[in-house]
Amino acid sequence: MSYLVDKEGYYGEFGGAYVPEILHKCVDDLQKEYLKVIESEAFQKEYRQLLTDYVGRPSPLYYANRLSEKYGAKIYLKREDLNHTGAHKINNTVGQILIARHMGKTRIIAETGAGQHGVATATVCALFNMKCVVYMGATDVARQHVNVEKMKMLGAEVRPVTSGNMTLKDATNEAIRDWCCNPSDTFYIIGSTVGPHPYPDMVARLQSVISEEIKWQLKEKIGRDYPDYLMACVGGGSNAGGTIYHYIDDERVKIVLSEAGGLGVDSGKTAATIALGKVGILHGAKSYVIQSEDGQIEEPYSISAGLDYPGIGPMHANMAAKSRAQIVAVNDDEAVAAAYELTKLEGIIPALESAHALGALPKMKFNPDDVVVLTVSGRGDKDIETYLNYYTK
Ligand SMILES: *Cc1c(COP(=O)(O)O)cnc(C)c1O
Repeated sequence: MSYLVDKEGYYGEFGGAYVPEILHKCVDDLQKEYLKVIESEAFQKEYRQLLTDYVGRPSPLYYANRLSEKYGAKIYLKREDLNHTGAHKINNTVGQILIARHMGKTRIIAETGAGQHGVATATVCALFNMKCVVYMGATDVARQHVNVEKMKMLGAEVRPVTSGNMTLKDATNEAIRDWCCNPSDTFYIIGSTVGPHPYPDMVARLQSVISEEIKWQLKEKIGRDYPDYLMACVGGGSNAGGTIYHYIDDERVKIVLSEAGGLGVDSGKTAATIALGKVGILHGAKSYVIQSEDGQIEEPYSISAGLDYPGIGPMHANMAAKSRAQIVAVNDDEAVAAAYELTKLEGIIPALESAHALGALPKMKFNPDDVVVLTVSGRGDKDIETYLNYYTK
């Protein structure tokens, strides 16, 4: 048994491709092509070259001395915050735009929450001279205005979305609507391990460079190529998916995933999908979804725009259902405290999303010899205002 995707696009009972009739051909074509493209020599050559020369990979695996002392384990940070555009998102957009070009598409659309995926998509569209439209909830446009300006400077059109909570879920709905209207020339670059098959698997593969590097970096540093623990935050699941990809079926490695507790799992203001979610269909896949008794999607809340999503990728839902991963809800206050702690102890200001992974550290019971690899998915530049205002509110 494997925790990776099966031939039908499922992870256990989760996944699949639940799309409107008009998108069947697009999704079918992508299902047929994506593995052939990704595994081709031409793709690998260009993708690897861009990861090295443009993104700046490999990202360092940094032994965090003072953090290790504090938590009584050997803690290594996988520094995705040092990538071009400031997060792991670029690993995926570089890969997907190569696939889009291979499939003859000329127009790119994307959804974005914090704006990190929007910026990463606008960046590769500039690089490949493709037309780019980014859907973003109006609430997020207001709270992440620097990223909006970056996308515009990169040549993208940002379309604010005013339905629902005006956040990531609503932006995704709008992007899917656009895709339905323009299926022939448009490629939808999804920013996480969500959406209809093959997106969760395609995105996880494109992010799997993270665990590919962790393997040889650990081997170099400690003489064995696996840790005792892997830790990451989960919005849709892409940085976590990349972090665990090459270890997912290796039971020696424990997996700890942090989801956004918001003001508390029982507060009604939360994005803790696994704690609260019931099986449902959202944005083309069967997974856990935060929904009411009669199946209405409920509005999520998190201080972090990148985790403010009522669903989770099917790969992660399956790992949670089968207890392959331990899921921890980390609340706003715990995440902010963890961000200040990392900044003071290591001189690294993490993204608010990554701060949720760090916020799980105080909840763990490590042995002194445990090797822990925690992925810092992004840098905190975009969150400085939130950090500074948090304690003065
Ligand atoms: C988007 C984002 C996330 C959440 O997305 P995943 O797909 O779950 O990784 C986490 N961290 C950062 C820095 C992000 O930009």
